[in-house]
Amino acid sequence: ASTAPQELLGHPKGLYVCFLTEMWERFAFYGMKALLLMYLTKYHLFTDANGYLLLGTYAGLAYALPLIGGMLADRYLGMRKAVVFGGLLLVIGQFGMGYIGQAATGTPDAAVRDALAVQIMYASLALIGVGVGFLKPNISTIVGRLYPENDPRRDSGFTIFYAGINLGAMLSSLVVGYIGFNVGWGWGFGLSGALMLVGLIQFLWGQRYLDGHAEPPDAQALRKPVLAGLSAEWLIYLGGILVTVAMWQVLQIRIDFSFLGGMFGGHEVTLTEVLAVILGIGLFIWFGWFLFSGITAQERGRMIVLMVLIVVSALFWGLYEQTYGTWVAFNDRLMSTEFFPGMMTVKDPPLPWSILSLIVIPLGFVAAMKLDAARASLGKGIIAAITVVMLVCLVHDVFIVKQNAGSLTFLGSLFVILLTPVFTALWPILDKYGINPSSPAKFGIGLIFAGLATGILMYAAKQSDGSQLISVWWLVAAYFVLELGEMVLSPIGLSAVTQLSVSRVVGLMMGAWFLFSAFGEIIAGRFGTWAAITPNPDGTFDKAKALAVYSDVFGDLMWIGVGAGVVMLALAPILA
Ligand code: GLN
Repeated sequence: ASTAPQELLGHPKGLYVCFLTEMWERFAFYGMKALLLMYLTKYHLFTDANGYLLLGTYAGLAYALPLIGGMLADRYLGMRKAVVFGGLLLVIGQFGMGYIGQAATGTPDAAVRDALAVQIMYASLALIGVGVGFLKPNISTIVGRLYPENDPRRDSGFTIFYAGINLGAMLSSLVVGYIGFNVGWGWGFGLSGALMLVGLIQFLWGQRYLDGHAEPPDAQALRKPVLAGLSAEWLIYLGGILVTVAMWQVLQIRIDFSFLGGMFGGHEVTLTEVLAVILGIGLFIWFGWFLFSGITAQERGRMIVLMVLIVVSALFWGLYEQTYGTWVAFNDRLMSTEFFPGMMTVKDPPLPWSILSLIVIPLGFVAAMKLDAARASLGKGIIAAITVVMLVCLVHDVFIVKQNAGSLTFLGSLFVILLTPVFTALWPILDKYGINPSSPAKFGIGLIFAGLATGILMYAAKQSDGSQLISVWWLVAAYFVLELGEMVLSPIGLSAVTQLSVSRVVGLMMGAWFLFSAFGEIIAGRFGTWAAITPNPDGTFDKAKALAVYSDVFGDLMWIGVGAGVVMLALAPILA
C-alpha cells in the first residue's frame, strides 16, 4: 500500500466521508426546520409569534455555538473526535424529538401540550444545537485539510461539499417534511435521527480515509487527567453536556426589557438573543485588539473588509431564512401546493419513493469507495446510476405525491444544486473579460436578489383576493431569485473567509461567519413576528386580512433587501 492519500474521482476519499457526514447532519438540521414551525403552531398550539421566535432562537443557537466548537477542536479535541461527539448529541436530540413528536401525533389536546412534552422538546432542540456546534465547523475544516496548501482542487472540493449540504437539505425537506406531516411528526423526526446515526457509523468506518488530518493537536495532553481524575477530553464532553443543559433553559427564557421604555418598551427579548449579542460584542472587542496587535497595514485592511462582509451577511440570512418561517406559513395558509392541479395521482402513499434514494445513495458511495483508482470508471457508472434513481424519486415526489408547505422548502436546495455548475462556470468567464464583481459588490447583488425574491411573494399576495389559492409557481419563482442571491453570496463568503483572513485566526473567523448566520436567524425570527396572524379558535382566519398582512411585510422586507443591497454596491468600490 502506498502512503499517498487514496483518491476517488480525482478527490481524496476523505472528501466523500465528510460529504456524507455533513449531508446527514444537514438532513437532520433542515428536516427539523422544515417541520418545526408547523409542529409548534399546529400541535403545541404556539402562537405565530412564539413559533417564529423559537424557530429563530433554535437555529440561532445552532449557528452561534460553532464559534466555541471550532475553537475547542482547534486547541484540544481535534476535528475527528468533535465530529463524533457532535454526531452523538444530534442522534439523541433527534430521537428525543421523535419520541415526543410521536406522542403528539394527531392529538392536539391539552395532554400533549403538557409541561413534560414541551420540556423534552426544548431539551432535544438544545442537544441538536450543541451537536451542530461540535460537528459543523469541524467537518468543514477537515475538508480544507485534505488538500495540500496550494492544491487547485480545493475550491471544487468545497463545491462538491456544498452540494452535499444541499442534497441533505433537499432530501430532508421532501422526506421528513412529507412523513412528519402525513405519517406522524415523530416518524419524521425519528427518521432524521436514524439517518444521522447511519452518517455517524459511516464516519467512524470512513475515518481511516482522513489520513490523520483530523487528530488532536496533542493527543497525550488530551489523555492526561487534569481535574478530579478526568482527562481534558472527558472534561470537554462533560462541558458539552453541561452547556446542553444550560441551553435547554436558555431556549425558554425571555427577558422583559420594557423597563427601558422608548423603543424597547413592551419588548420581550429571548435569552438566546442576549447571549448571541454578548458573543458578538466579545468578538468585536477581540477584533479591535487584533487589528492593532502587530499585523501589517495590508492585513488590517483585508480583515476590515472581511468583517464588513460577515456583518452584512446577517441581513441576507435574515431575509433568506423567511423561507422556513413566513414563507411556510404563507404557503400553508394561502397557496396551493399542487404544481399541476389534478395531476397528483397518489394522495396518501404509505411512504414516498425518496426513502429509496436515501438507502441507495449511501450504498452507492460505499460501493464506489471500495473500488480502486484503476476501476474508477465503474465507480462513475455507479454514481451515474444512483443519480438517475434519485431523479426518478424526486420527480415522483414532487409531481405525483401531495406536497405540504414544509416539504416545499426543498425548492431552495434544489436550485442551489442546479445552479452550482452554472456559477462555477460563470466566475472564470467573467474573470476572463475582467468584469468579475468584487466580493463586496457580489454581497450587494445578493441582497438585492433576496429583496426581489420577497417582492415576488408580495406581488403574489397583492394580486389575490383570497377567493382561490395562490399558485405555487409564485413560490418557485421567488425561490429561484432568492437562490441566485445565495449563490453570489454564501460560497463567496466562505471563500472570502479563507482568502482575506490572517491565516492563524481563520478558524475563529469561520466561527464568526456562522455567528452572523445566527444573528440572521434571530433577525429572521423578529421579521417573522411582524407577520404574525392570529387564527380563530377553530383554526380558520380572515383571508383578506392575512393577505394584507403578508403583502405589507413582504413589501417591507423587499425594500430592506433592495435598499441595503444598493448601499452595499455604492460602498463596494471603497471596500474592494
Ligand atoms: N445553507 C448553508 C448551510 O446550511 C449555509 C447556511 C448559513 O451559513 N446560514 O451550511
